[in-house]
Amino acid sequence: MTNAETKPGIGAPSKRLEAMPPYMFQELERRIADKRAAGIDVISLGIGDPDEPTYPHVVKAMQEAVADGANQKYPSNRGRAELREAFAGFYDRRFGVAIDAESEVIPAIGAKECIYNLCFAFLDPGGVALASDPGYPVYTGGPILAGATPELLPLVPELGFAPDLSAVPADVAAKARLMFINYPNNPTGAVVPDGFFELVVSFAREHEILVVHDNAYSETTYDGYVAPSFLATPGAKEVGVEVFSLSKGYNMTGWRCAAILGNAEAIQTYWRLKTNVDSGLFEAVQLAGAAALGGPSGPLERMNETYTRRRDLVVAALREIGVEVSAPKGTIYVWAPVPKGHTSTSFAELVLEEAAVVVSPGSMYGPSGEGFFRISLTTPDERISEAVERMREHLS
Ligand SMILES: *Cc1c(COP(=O)(O)O)cnc(C)c1O
Repeated sequence: MTNAETKPGIGAPSKRLEAMPPYMFQELERRIADKRAAGIDVISLGIGDPDEPTYPHVVKAMQEAVADGANQKYPSNRGRAELREAFAGFYDRRFGVAIDAESEVIPAIGAKECIYNLCFAFLDPGGVALASDPGYPVYTGGPILAGATPELLPLVPELGFAPDLSAVPADVAAKARLMFINYPNNPTGAVVPDGFFELVVSFAREHEILVVHDNAYSETTYDGYVAPSFLATPGAKEVGVEVFSLSKGYNMTGWRCAAILGNAEAIQTYWRLKTNVDSGLFEAVQLAGAAALGGPSGPLERMNETYTRRRDLVVAALREIGVEVSAPKGTIYVWAPVPKGHTSTSFAELVLEEAAVVVSPGSMYGPSGEGFFRISLTTPDERISEAVERMREHLS
């Protein structure tokens, strides 16, 4: 065979990229685009991206930091001491978890980047990662791109949207090196069931699996619920890391500010990979992140009041149209079963056609998401009211 025959051609994807699951929602997106082009006022409750601005004290810290030439150079890849110490202080005050600012925390350019890089740090071609299903897409995409296989851990509603770890086949557990879990959970809105983190620690110990707890929503909770850190579980630091993101709680999705905390050896390995891939987090963002973590909690509380109000609007409207939904105690999502006779996609299409409202089909987040849809609360109150009014009117 000549070289030319083995090459896929200029611009064609690698085999790894080709192995990514096909993007299923082109049809839905095409319909949204068509409607908007036709002048229809489509309200999107699809994406989870806070609509409110970043808190003023964080913006102010950024404005000051960005004007300082010392912060404009290549950043320290290990992270500024101010930010590592701010994370350590926050984990102590907020979660009662002791973090050594030197060895147990490194800033990341967002949780997504961090999780992707963890796959390359810990998985070899042919390796296995355990991934919550439904789950944030990089839990499966990261392993696939690293040449490994994601094995799905179905989140079982009967177990409070926790996976049944005793159902993981022995050969899968034996091969797995990573396990991705996330509470409060996207997309289900579930909070961690009592005792589940303890089960995870003993499972990980038994099978020598590095646990990655994606903590994107601990600060976004309702009805008095306070979310724990996975690292507060006895033994967690021996088997796991936590990825903490400022994106959702602090309205900072665009800033790309997160960190990985926990097991020092794992963090050292992650850092070794990371030094080969990126050049660190912009130092002005690091200082702004420190200001966010060390700042007042009032803005977070007001944000959570806003989401509670929106959640209640959505839950009440869904119940009126016959959807049996429970009100989530955390995250920015309402996760609900589709009405009988529908698939996730057919229901999302119906809502778009009838009400010009976009909801996310649950199957976007994995096979166990089939039969559900997700509504994001990150749209201003009056638009959420309008959207639920339309759903009431057209879907009752
Ligand atoms: C939004 C989200 C993230 C992304 O965090 P970034 O820090 O913005 O990359 C990670 N995990 C979950 C579960 C999310 O919902």
